[in-house]
Amino acid sequence: MSNKMSERHYLDYNATAPLRPQVRAAMLDALESGGANPSSVHAEGRHARALIEKARHSICEFVAGDADGLIFTSSGTEACNLALQTHLAPAGKIGRILVSAIEHPAILQTAATSELPVLQLGVDSSGQIDLTALDSALQDPTPALVAIMAANNETGAIQPIAEIGKMVRAHGSVFLCDGVQALGKMPLNMQTMHIDMLALSAHKIGGAAGSGALLIAPHIEIKPLIYGGGQELRRRAGTENLLGIVGFGAAIECAAQDLLTIDALAVLRDKMEAQLEKEMNRQKLAPLHFFARDIERLPNTSCFAIAGLSSETLVMALDLEGIAVSAGAACSSGKVTASHVLTAMGVADDLVQGAIRVSLGWDSKPADIDNLVACLTAFVVRQNQTYKDSQLIKAAE
Ligand code: PLP
Repeated sequence: MSNKMSERHYLDYNATAPLRPQVRAAMLDALESGGANPSSVHAEGRHARALIEKARHSICEFVAGDADGLIFTSSGTEACNLALQTHLAPAGKIGRILVSAIEHPAILQTAATSELPVLQLGVDSSGQIDLTALDSALQDPTPALVAIMAANNETGAIQPIAEIGKMVRAHGSVFLCDGVQALGKMPLNMQTMHIDMLALSAHKIGGAAGSGALLIAPHIEIKPLIYGGGQELRRRAGTENLLGIVGFGAAIECAAQDLLTIDALAVLRDKMEAQLEKEMNRQKLAPLHFFARDIERLPNTSCFAIAGLSSETLVMALDLEGIAVSAGAACSSGKVTASHVLTAMGVADDLVQGAIRVSLGWDSKPADIDNLVACLTAFVVRQNQTYKDSQLIKAAE
């Protein structure tokens, strides 16, 4: 990070976590050691292979996955595509798809390309999936592929994954869990959570973008999306992204350590929310609306809106103050569209348009929070004053 960038307060970890120093060091090491082709039989190739297998081992161990069941991909999105598209093949046993309404586009858009019927399961006003609706959907004897995320990227809402996994397996269906946001922020265990397929991504935990993984249980068969060489046990052709994978492995090891003290992040997040509320009350400003605050949510995530203020305005105003946050839904095209997540939760339109997401991570400090609270409050005070002035001018005219 340049000096200028280091003066900033980065609070957008759910979009991408900054690269961890340990990841950078591991990637540089791999780069400097030659970065040979891991399929080559010479010593350099064997060294590259050993680095990949080390990363594979760390990731599998962290989520209790089967070492033969990890397929490295280019992203979490590719992992979701691989899982869904394989099982969408008409010849497969799966006859329909169930998704929650708050899934990431990597799931929703891919499911939408299927010829199979897709059923969307609703969520309640806190963003939690309707388990009764899931249970009744599972009564249909046609086996389903059920895609439900462990934790939501916008609100941080956590789903009861172990319970869902148990229900899905009991009905002979297949459970795909998008664990991209949950990874490193809460425990994920393929065994105890009965997960058949788990999608992960490196850049959400301080690895480099361009590296993801799909983990599959031993009874799951995968049909490749990409054909060519025999890499990844013939399930994903192409010379492996050695640096990205090494970085992923190093990031997992850091995340495993962080998980031991993850509650500290929740303390920081809660302090921020409490301070914001206190300031808004003290200055008699518009109330804050927090989303998914009343249920179990990721310890690093806070999603909220201030009535009457658009998220684009807030994000830009904070950016000018050196603070990076996201609008409720940060779109990959850079254009902010209304959040399908908040809409599914039944949030009123004006609040959907105003939602912003603050997400913390491994390098977050109390000063980041203090700055955010001070700048946001000052901005809302200024907006109020501008509004009052404009009303006075109108009245005088
Ligand atoms: N799933 C969730 C829940 C996400 O938040 C994201 C990224 O924001 C993805 C999938 C896609 O991951 P990637 O950016 O690695 O393609």
